[in-house]
Order: sequence, then structure tokens, then C-alpha cells
Amino acid sequence: MDYRIGIGFDIHRLVEGRPLVIGGTGIPYVKGLLGHSDADVLLHAVCDAILGAASLGDIGELFPDTDPAFLGIASTVLLEETMKLVRNKGYRVNNLDTVVIAQEPSLAPFKKGIRTRIAALLAVSVDAVSIKAKTHDSLDSIGRKEAIAAYAAVTLVREV
Ligand code: MG
Repeated sequence: MDYRIGIGFDIHRLVEGRPLVIGGTGIPYVKGLLGHSDADVLLHAVCDAILGAASLGDIGELFPDTDPAFLGIASTVLLEETMKLVRNKGYRVNNLDTVVIAQEPSLAPFKKGIRTRIAALLAVSVDAVSIKAKTHDSLDSIGRKEAIAAYAAVTLVREV
């Protein structure tokens, strides 16, 4: 089998006056993530993991934050575009593992919904998607609730 592994990382600043969107899911919180798009830190890490596995570059090259076309865009659209590129190259997602690091809010109530949402976007079963949520043990910027970060690891497999 032709497997390809990819990793992705992202971090965004938490600010007042923005909705918090993680894994294509709105999360009630007093702050949201700052960015050119909806700043969905988890989906950005997932896109980069997938792009990396397929050697297709990175999210900043494909969807530059200087391009007005991507201003305020839902990152679910960026993931859909990423999946089109990967399919065109002859790959599908085998499985995805992720870590979201947020001191607040607790993501535990949302993990199941995020899994389901991402599995649908990747066209895989829910069993092929893992979402792990951690705090930063009150250390550094994430621990001070100034930012949220995410890691993703993916395997792709060649179709037929
Ligand atoms: Mg980002």
C-alpha cells in the first residue's frame, strides 16, 4: 500500500469580539480566534497535515492571508479545496489524529460533534478521526488564555 504521512501545526491569538470556531464548529466563549479567515486553528492544522502528506505545499501558499478572496472565509471551505487537490493527486484520507491545546474553554462537550464534522469533510468514517483536547497547564501564552494551538497528523492512501 502507498501510504503518505503528514503533520500540521497552527496557533491563533484569542481576542474579544470574534466568534470561536474550532473544527468547523462554533464554540460559545467570551473570546474568539483572530485571523484573516474564521481562524479555525484545528482545520488549519488538518489542511497543512493533508497538504504535507501529498507534497502540495502549505495553507499559506494556497490560501494566502493577503488575498481578499479568503477574508472571513469558513475554513471548512479551505479543507474542501484541500481535499479536491488531494483527490486530484490520487489520494484519499486513511486516518487523522489531532490535538487541540486550549486552556479555556473546555472542548470535551464538543469533541464528538467536531469529529463527526471533520469526518464528513474528509469523506471518512468517524472512527478514522481522533480529536484530543488538552490544556497547557496554565503555562505560557496558551496557558494564559492568549492563544489556542492545534496539531494534526494524517495518513493518506493511494486510490486503487
Ligand atoms: Mg491558521
